[in-house]
Amino acid sequence: MVDKIERLKREKKAIILAHNYQRPEVQDIADFVGDSLELSLCAAQTEAKLIVFCGVKFMAETAAILNPDKKVLIPDGNALCPMAAMLPAEFVRFYRRKYPDAKVVLYINSLAEAKAHCDAVCTSANSAEIINMMDSETVLFGPDSNLACYARGFTDKKVVSIPAYGFCPVHKLFNREDIIRLKDANRDAEVLAHPECNPEIYEVADFVGSTSKMYREALVSNAKKFIVATETGLLHRMRKERSDAVFIPAYEEAVCVNMKLHTLEKIYLSLKNERYRINLPPKIMTQAREAVEFMLRARETLR
Ligand code: SF4
Repeated sequence: MVDKIERLKREKKAIILAHNYQRPEVQDIADFVGDSLELSLCAAQTEAKLIVFCGVKFMAETAAILNPDKKVLIPDGNALCPMAAMLPAEFVRFYRRKYPDAKVVLYINSLAEAKAHCDAVCTSANSAEIINMMDSETVLFGPDSNLACYARGFTDKKVVSIPAYGFCPVHKLFNREDIIRLKDANRDAEVLAHPECNPEIYEVADFVGSTSKMYREALVSNAKKFIVATETGLLHRMRKERSDAVFIPAYEEAVCVNMKLHTLEKIYLSLKNERYRINLPPKIMTQAREAVEFMLRARETLR
């Protein structure tokens, strides 16, 4: 299957992008592995006209939004993010009416239709920076209420979660007491946690950051043991680069079933039959692109 994928990829001059939470074998055949921002940037910079995007649908949509002239495929069209679905576009319109003076920042983990109604998009790596760039005292932020809570620690603005309850079902699984027990049993371990976890997890973590920041911390840290509180797919990448270190999942069942829908066989079929293409209405593409490009320009400023 790997040979067949490689051959088709060469023939069609395609590239395969994989999120950090993908199955190990999918990460291993990808041209680039990273978080949602890194993958969007890679999609924007590649010369390839055909992109097979192994992540959940909002990520492939973001790649398509930034690349209207490229064909973006997702190997399994059912790879949806339940957290993104918690904020339909009509909710954003409702909250805009309720807070007419507020700006709206949406986490990249949101539907394209919702992004089309926001002022800027952010990732877990730059949420507070983007919020601080808004010229309003109140900022509506969604859909992840935990990431909103994390960002509040780095801003004086009033950050209102839209909706109040948005969450990632995978990151909700981590339990503070379990992590304390793991820390007691592994006193030399560094605890890395994702901001989508509940805030009580931040208190027991040594480092809180996006998957790309957690990965880089694992590469530069002097620690030889890490307890990792995010989807278990990230551990594959960490173990590959730090074979001298031990990586312990903070909870072994923290698996995103949607991310894991993509398999080698589906990637092969996606390349062969050029399916399933991301198609968005032109108006949504244009409006959402402005919000995503705000973040990309801000990224240049913040460097
Ligand atoms: S890990 Fe959570 S936020 Fe990421 S795709 Fe899965 S459900 Fe959505």
